[in-house]
Amino acid sequence: MQNSNSEKAYGAHLEPFHGIPTFMRLPATRDMAGVDAAVLGVPYDSGASYRSGARFGPRKIREASLLLWGHNARMGVSPARELKLVDYGDVEIIPVDIQASMESISREVGELLAKGVSILALGGDHSISLPLLRAHAAFHGPLAVVHFDAHPDTWDQEYAGFPYSHGTPFRRAIEEGLVDTSAYIQVGIRGPTSGSHDLEDARQLGARIVPIGDAFEAGIPRVVEDIHKVVGRKKVYVSLDIDALDPAFAPGTGTPEVGGFSSAQMLELVRGLKGLDLAGFDLVEVCPAYDHSEITAILAANLVFEYLSLLALKKRMGTSL
Ligand code: MN
Ligand code: MN
Repeated sequence: MQNSNSEKAYGAHLEPFHGIPTFMRLPATRDMAGVDAAVLGVPYDSGASYRSGARFGPRKIREASLLLWGHNARMGVSPARELKLVDYGDVEIIPVDIQASMESISREVGELLAKGVSILALGGDHSISLPLLRAHAAFHGPLAVVHFDAHPDTWDQEYAGFPYSHGTPFRRAIEEGLVDTSAYIQVGIRGPTSGSHDLEDARQLGARIVPIGDAFEAGIPRVVEDIHKVVGRKKVYVSLDIDALDPAFAPGTGTPEVGGFSSAQMLELVRGLKGLDLAGFDLVEVCPAYDHSEITAILAANLVFEYLSLLALKKRMGTSL
């Protein structure tokens, strides 16, 4: 079989029920020599304002990923054959200390970026995107951001004067100059808000908002066009909150909002990022305790696979990761 050694290296010769559940049966290692991209877990959920439990997301997504066979027929690519991929394991976090956890996430991810490794981070609640953006912006400069979510996460709320939570990461990131606000797009926004100012505040900060109703009216291909228009050739960070999907497709999450994307639509949205200068990725807010039949975890694993496929296509185009 072609590439049999590399297939063995990433575990594709195993049955899905064999072995230690790393993401897609990739090798679990912290040796980053020659590595193109690493999947890593960020099992932190103390930034959640409502249901906690996303700390168990990375483990469950890895388990659900075992059933991913290597070839992406839709995109015509086998990411683990074209890229050297590893499962880094989880970054160190301290459940009772968000600041220390954020520092740890930024430090570990910064070290990986310095080694030329592209990151796919599995959350964890959405507060982890701030330290992830800190690390990526320190390396690349301010980034374009594609943010799939039901919620803008640009709230200015503080809990007892404390500014960090899963409702504020993008406001803080903008305040810290990590985001190129001329190239920041939020897709899938919906649901009751605390007032009419919520979305206006996000727009004031520079976000281009695609509310879910507009996305459904225009259709997915048009949303993909809009994303490409907003981002252009800039380096882009992609943050995917699983609650962008309808709870019928992704019930296992902390703050579900009805009326969201279907699995098929979200798969197409991620595939639509093909051609962008992808710099980093996170998938957050998978909360297995509220899941049914593992559908949220299976979906999350597949969305990560689509992103890996994008990276493989990017490398094929001769662009460095
Ligand atoms: Mn959300
Ligand atoms: Mn969010």
